[in-house]
Amino acid sequence: MPRIYPLERLRDFGIIAHIDAGKTTTSERVLFYTGISHKIGEVHEGAAVMDWMDQERERGITITSAATTCFWMPSYISEEDRVAKKQENTFRFNLIDTPGHIDFTVEVKRSLRVLDGAVVVFDGVAGVEPQSETNWRYADEYSVPRICFINKLDRTGASFEKSFASIRERLNPNAIAIQLPIGSEGDFAGIIDLLRMQAFTSEGERGEKIVEMPIPENMVEAAKAARHELIEKIVENDEQLMEKYLAGEEPSLADLKRVLRKATLEVKIIPVLVGSALKNKGVQFVLDAVVDYLPSPLDLPPTKGTHPESGEPVERLPKDDAPFSALAFKVAADPFVGSLTFFRVYSGTLKKGSYIYNVTKGETERAGRILRMHANDREEVDELYAGDIGALVGMKNTTTGDTLSTQEDPILLEKIIFPEPVISVRIEPKTKADQEKMGVALRKLADEDPTFRVSGNPDTGETIIAGMGELHLEVLVERMKREFKVEANVGRPQVSYKETIKKEAQAEGKYVKQSGGRGQYGHVKIRIEPLEIGKGFEFVNEIKGGTIPQEYINPTEKGIKEAVSRGILAGYPVIDVKATLYDGSFHEVDSSEAAFKMAGSMAFKSAAQQAGPVILEPIMSVQVTIPDQYLGDVTGDISAKRGRIENIDDRPMVKVIDAFVPLAEMFGYATKLRSMTQGRGNYTMEFHAYEEVPRSVGEEIIAGRK
Ligand code: GDP
Repeated sequence: MPRIYPLERLRDFGIIAHIDAGKTTTSERVLFYTGISHKIGEVHEGAAVMDWMDQERERGITITSAATTCFWMPSYISEEDRVAKKQENTFRFNLIDTPGHIDFTVEVKRSLRVLDGAVVVFDGVAGVEPQSETNWRYADEYSVPRICFINKLDRTGASFEKSFASIRERLNPNAIAIQLPIGSEGDFAGIIDLLRMQAFTSEGERGEKIVEMPIPENMVEAAKAARHELIEKIVENDEQLMEKYLAGEEPSLADLKRVLRKATLEVKIIPVLVGSALKNKGVQFVLDAVVDYLPSPLDLPPTKGTHPESGEPVERLPKDDAPFSALAFKVAADPFVGSLTFFRVYSGTLKKGSYIYNVTKGETERAGRILRMHANDREEVDELYAGDIGALVGMKNTTTGDTLSTQEDPILLEKIIFPEPVISVRIEPKTKADQEKMGVALRKLADEDPTFRVSGNPDTGETIIAGMGELHLEVLVERMKREFKVEANVGRPQVSYKETIKKEAQAEGKYVKQSGGRGQYGHVKIRIEPLEIGKGFEFVNEIKGGTIPQEYINPTEKGIKEAVSRGILAGYPVIDVKATLYDGSFHEVDSSEAAFKMAGSMAFKSAAQQAGPVILEPIMSVQVTIPDQYLGDVTGDISAKRGRIENIDDRPMVKVIDAFVPLAEMFGYATKLRSMTQGRGNYTMEFHAYEEVPRSVGEEIIAGRK
């Protein structure tokens, strides 16, 4: 069966927003208007279609990054053509869900990898918020074409002018309004389309009917001025249009839309739209803009990767008859079918029952069942094509970030890089029965989420879970309870410290035992030195002429690695260190792998002691937004927390503080900030880097571990 919707009528996009800006409400309206959702559920009633996990519903935040397929015929298509040319005018949308909470930034990043364009939603009262800036920068990194939607214009305190200005000042000066709101707050009544120079409002219980209205007289001048500005901005991007315009010719609607599309795709212009998702105004026009200005897979450069063996660059075009390539971007536990692996096809066609080569793992798996996810049901399909997003059922070895392709024509797509977890807690099953289920539950959750790690302490039998923040771990423990029915006691969150060395050192390790029977003999000399940040652990073998036989080299490395993971000062893993094995000796009879492993471990421990070992702690990049009058208290508190204030930005009514603060000092900051600012302060936090702790703090950490 060939594809029904040609690539130029496909849009893979996401809705990105600061938490509470109205992403869930907007997504719901999208699903409703696109004919999928037949009832508009309200977030506070917990009926949001995208929030399909119980817990997300309760917290009112969207955590997972699923993708939903829906269809849209632009609202400007004439009544006649809606019927007569239905097929030609219908677009397939794959709406990729992105989370809003800062602890889940990694989810935003990973969804940016698979979406082609984004709708960025803003709260019309707050304008640009700290999280919007973070996400905007990520979208910049991936050059994602964007349109903005200033939502909530019906709310008391809403201001289109201020919100629009904040987008231009803080995000991108090339943002340009293609609409103006009619009225504001309680009087928000409709929208002027500056390209068509027509005004519209919506009618019907759910605003499903778009009705033209006259442009209010008192707005005619403002609309003309805004249109003028818009046209000037657009024609700048096309020489011919510019010439005509300068010669006094009014550009046609079709020309304006064509050039605006081109400029938006190149991220030279960011169209700004307005509305109120809650009051059912403007969302249909956002969907029209997705069609008009966001890319289809054909508008993108070819997908780049490398050949897994030769490392040569390889490119793939989004063609159905090209070799298959796809990226698995999300693994989700599913109550009905076990596990779902969401993937985006970059090239080729995937047929049900065919074999998929997982290039990342070097393994082959069969594509048993392929699903396309709709908001409230799932469709089993036989084929998926270039540009499509779907889910594979029950894949065993495929995890997030893996490239899928064919064995004959393999390509390895760029990896999604996930940060190391910075915080950990001890968890303990409540009963014996829980103990058995807990292992399974944790493994499944870790498969889904690459920033969530599970480890055991063999000495104490404890289980430690690690992640990107307090909320991240809380959410996972909650899911364990709900989805896997495992009850557990959770310890206090702990910072994931690391250790490293500051200088080069050499040492030998000698493990010799000669009491009765067969003895033990292992002897190595190693040199260790600091590596660049982020390089991890490296082992080099410089043994020549059989000073140590080949079969004992690997065991030596293993021994060193074990010692590295056990730490030097306080038992935290050592990072960014290189160990070189350069000499040693062996015994014909007594030497064994075990003896060399011991020797390697001993050598590392003794070398590390002389190599200036230090403890590293995670430093967070923190942005605090507060009303002016609290500036003194809040900056004083940041300094007391060993924080470094990098910048204080003066914005209308508020101050925005950028600082680097150790994670260890940030526990409970939400509560503290609330009490310092009468609930009016806000902050966001993300991992910045590991840095050496001050001596006094290091001593405390070491004492605490003893
Ligand atoms: P999310 O956190 O970005 O997903 O935001 P939600 O869609 O959950 O919205 C947060 C809150 O704002 C909810 O109480 C919504 O009912 C409300 N909300 C969303 N859109 C609008 C809007 O256009 N106008 C008003 N007044 N409230 C809105």
